[in-house]
Amino acid sequence: MRVSKLFTRTSKTVPADEVATNAQLLIRAGFIHKELAGVYAYMPLGLRVLENIKKIVREEMNNYGGQEIMMTTLQPKDIWVKTDRWDDAKVDNWFKTKLVNGTELGVGLTHEEPIVDAVSMYLSSYKDMPFAVYQIQNKFRNELRAKSGLLRGREFLMKDMYTFSRDQAQHLEEYEKIILAYYRVYDRLGLGAITYRTYADGGIFTPRFSDEFQTVTEVGEDTIYIDEEKRVAINEEIMSDENLVKLGLDKTKLVKKKGVEVGNTFHLETKYTDALDLYYTDEKGDKQSIIMGCYGIGVSRLMGVVAEIFADDKGLVWPENIAPFKVYLVVIGGEEATASAEKLYAELTSRGIEVLYDDRDVRPGQKFADSELMGIPYRVTISDRLLADEKYEYVTRKDGQKTLLTHEQLLAKLS
Ligand code: ATP
Ligand code: MG
Repeated sequence: MRVSKLFTRTSKTVPADEVATNAQLLIRAGFIHKELAGVYAYMPLGLRVLENIKKIVREEMNNYGGQEIMMTTLQPKDIWVKTDRWDDAKVDNWFKTKLVNGTELGVGLTHEEPIVDAVSMYLSSYKDMPFAVYQIQNKFRNELRAKSGLLRGREFLMKDMYTFSRDQAQHLEEYEKIILAYYRVYDRLGLGAITYRTYADGGIFTPRFSDEFQTVTEVGEDTIYIDEEKRVAINEEIMSDENLVKLGLDKTKLVKKKGVEVGNTFHLETKYTDALDLYYTDEKGDKQSIIMGCYGIGVSRLMGVVAEIFADDKGLVWPENIAPFKVYLVVIGGEEATASAEKLYAELTSRGIEVLYDDRDVRPGQKFADSELMGIPYRVTISDRLLADEKYEYVTRKDGQKTLLTHEQLLAKLS
């Protein structure tokens, strides 16, 4: 991609209506466009980051054995009436709408009921389980406050997975496998070291706790208490002497931190399957209840978290595996430098290295500043002076380290 062709522009002006660092930087760098509070559109660079995060999530869910599907945003009311959730006062952030004829519909904020309804066409025997389905799809929630950019959207991208098991033993086995897949997702996003499995409220229909995945950051809305040795935490919401004993946590070892919830896994027991009349037949021909689990990851929230946490005073800093491009190529000078840059651009691109080539006729300072604001991991500069020495300047975004490299050295670095 050539910067001259990119329709988005960077901006020096901090958007006056944004207080969150992630939103300010992503908007200034041209990654996202604000439609309204908590509702953002993805521009080319932002979409590339989002797609890279989706790819990691998808790979790990597939590796675990999840089967990808896509449910609908419009949801029929009747299945939610059966589970007593249509008028549940606790589901207070639901967008609802109506057909022309007055029929009420829900706008997807979660999908337990529709999923159970869909799989009921296929699930009837103990032999059918365990299995897991998941989707990566926009969710809609009428959040009261949406001031945190991508961290809290009214329309946002979530991965939600649902498991179906014949008994608790089978369910817990799947559940722990999925937890491992979650760790891999956060590791690959560069958040592994600061993300903790956190005991949290399980909901009213299970005696079990849910597991939140909390990434430690000052901008987090949740308060958690971390046991660093055990690499687990407990959400303040369920901090009680009784729960600490139950979880085997020692109060004196816990350290209080702020966290943002980047994932949440739940034991659903048989609440939804029973209510929607979905059972299975066991080996003896007896009718049995089906145990479900559900597992969310905040995909667009993760993009905001990474943007927020790694940013510095110059702008965004993307980890290499989710960056929109790997290399920002800057050309300074005349015809000779340009010819050389064109050649390098073609060569790197043909090797499968993703290059954003700044071929614009603007001051070098602006090119450097834009490469930093966009957070592209490596900057390669070609100038007449460097060309005379047969060298490229190579700068790492993360630490600003500068080196001069020959052509061979550059190719070795980038491949
Ligand atoms: P929160 O407590 O932050 O409002 P939640 O507990 O209501 O979130 P879940 O229903 O557990 O959210 O959704 C699964 C995941 O989706 C969350 O762990 C979070 O990462 C993400 N998520 C939830 N709400 C939002 C939102 N409004 N904007 C962006 N991501 C969200
Ligand atoms: Mg949650």
